[in-house]
Amino acid sequence: MLQLESFIFNPFSEKTYVVYDGNTKDCVIIDPGCSTPGEENELFGFIDSHNLKPLMAINTHGHIDHIVGNAAVKKRYGIPVAAHPNVKADFLRSREQAAMFGMALGNGELPDRDLEDGEVIKVGESTLEVISTPGHAVGSISLYAEIEGWVFTGDALFCRSIGRTDFPGGSYEQLRTNIIERLFRLPDDTEVYPGHDQSTTIFDEKRYNMFL
Ligand SMILES: [Zn+2]
Ligand SMILES: [Zn+2]
Repeated sequence: MLQLESFIFNPFSEKTYVVYDGNTKDCVIIDPGCSTPGEENELFGFIDSHNLKPLMAINTHGHIDHIVGNAAVKKRYGIPVAAHPNVKADFLRSREQAAMFGMALGNGELPDRDLEDGEVIKVGESTLEVISTPGHAVGSISLYAEIEGWVFTGDALFCRSIGRTDFPGGSYEQLRTNIIERLFRLPDDTEVYPGHDQSTTIFDEKRYNMFL
């Protein structure tokens, strides 16, 4: 069984998640958003004090609040950053936006590894399955931990809300279809961990999310 730790980072109050296997110590960093030395220390302090072995960082999409810590985790742990191949345009835009928001994006390099829909990432004795859920951003993915009953939805699905669709490449219809056809197919008791704000369940969002 995986364990989970979450952090709230950067001026956008983005959620960074560390999922790890307590036995093997393998871990994956989802959306490293640390943007200051203090935030980096918080993230690295947790990983190091638990003797975790980061395998990779994964970006659910290419918006700046979800990728701003990529360079720091790569430098610290020498790990690849993985994302859907369609995120590249957003990465290039984020590179331009970084200065505007006063955030350093390192050299803002593109992801090292492509993640395709349906791909399964092994983390210790558990897995994360890539579910393609674009609409908020091009190349958005969700990550489903079947054994644990967790899904990390980035900015696609939030507690009682959904991601904005007015950014370049956004589409309300596409987002709505992906949430209903792909995320709502998961078991009702699946815990939803979004890229901002509190967690929820698939059951509660099916029932109470007014945006769908
Ligand atoms: Zn976003
Ligand atoms: Zn976000």
